[in-house]
Amino acid sequence: MIEINDLRLSFGSNEVLKGIDLSIEKGQVTVIIGPSGSGKTTLLRCINLLEIPTEGILRIGDSALSFREGNKPGRGDILAFRRKTGMVFQSYNLFPHMTALQNVMEAQVIVQKKSRAEAKERSMELLGKVGLAGKADSYPHQLSGGQQQRVGIARAMGIGPELLLFDEPTSALDPELVGEVLKVIKELAVEGMTMAIVTHEMKFASQVADRIVFMDEGIIMEQGSPNEVLNHPAQERTRQFLSLLS
Ligand code: ATP
Repeated sequence: MIEINDLRLSFGSNEVLKGIDLSIEKGQVTVIIGPSGSGKTTLLRCINLLEIPTEGILRIGDSALSFREGNKPGRGDILAFRRKTGMVFQSYNLFPHMTALQNVMEAQVIVQKKSRAEAKERSMELLGKVGLAGKADSYPHQLSGGQQQRVGIARAMGIGPELLLFDEPTSALDPELVGEVLKVIKELAVEGMTMAIVTHEMKFASQVADRIVFMDEGIIMEQGSPNEVLNHPAQERTRQFLSLLS
């Protein structure tokens, strides 16, 4: 169970997240939609602590971090908390000088202190899961965008996160490569992986989401089942946003 209470973040005088309250049940897929600049990426980066919230409480499982009243958790607490989440980035962010296998192994060896043999076994298993066992020794530049993103997913899974975060995982891909990445994400959903996904792929969102969250200007305007939010939005702003997509 992931719980976010009154999460706020400002960049200088620009308050980008204005008090986010969100619960994600274990095994649930939450898809976050909303216009450009509404704070979707920033919310994911706060959950992963790539950005440090200015206010609020984050809970993942039995751990909590408070940023209330200027409280700043120590680096050790932040690193420990970050390990509970795996992030898949829009632009893959693989290490270019490492093979697919080395990319997936890296955090397991460095962060989790697994032996190389153990990390290699788990990484080969994960590469198999994303359909890339045969590409273990390829470097990122030898892989298509879709393959690189699937390595990115295997890498994020490597540390055994309680929550996987996806930031527009298909938006940098050529259209014909989108399907192979979405297929992997759908398979993870069927297996019960807890996920929060920012995407503009509405068809995919309606297929994979247990809940849809609509953000606008740093707040959650509306949330509910895909049918509720996509087909019967309660808010005018949600209706406007959806009508621009169709
Ligand atoms: P998109 O769909 O275009 O990716 P988004 O909903 O993910 O948009 P964010 O990327 O979270 O939106 O950005 C929200 C706001 O925060 C924007 O106004 C953006 O300019 C601002 N912002 C994001 N990162 C920073 C930063 N590092 N420094 C200053 N402002 C930032």
